[in-house]
Amino acid sequence: MTAMLCPVCQQHQVIVEFEGVELDICLDGHGTWFDDQELHQLFESLEAPAELLALTKRFERVEDPSLGEKRRCPRCTTKMDHVRAPAEPEPVILDRCPHGHGLWFDDGELQQILTASGAEDSAALERIRQYLSAFEQGSSEESSVPEETQS
Ligand SMILES: [Zn+2]
Ligand SMILES: [Zn+2]
Repeated sequence: MTAMLCPVCQQHQVIVEFEGVELDICLDGHGTWFDDQELHQLFESLEAPAELLALTKRFERVEDPSLGEKRRCPRCTTKMDHVRAPAEPEPVILDRCPHGHGLWFDDGELQQILTASGAEDSAALERIRQYLSAFEQGSSEESSVPEETQS
């Protein structure tokens, strides 16, 4: 499986496996791509609370030109829809492929959504948070980038 390009910087993402789910993460810290169903799978494999599982079905499409230019799906390059997800302190806007390839979370958006789900105390959430923050720290300073050593 080849790594896809980050919809923000167009660099190759790295594929990381977390709880049996393959995630594509931008090494520059722009965010994380979830293929269709992967978000749901991740929550399931972490035995996340029902609120979180339900949340993945509550993303509503929005049409709002003030949200800026639409990004392109890393799989099919079609412009993605903006979708609104409940979060604190205000809803966050995610990018979703209209052909159902998946969802893009900008850096920090996933955590905002997790916090808003009302499931703050769950162990599953804590693991996702730790995992994401480990990645954010690793990407900002160290330049141990396996993808680029050969190129
Ligand atoms: Zn990027
Ligand atoms: Zn697509």
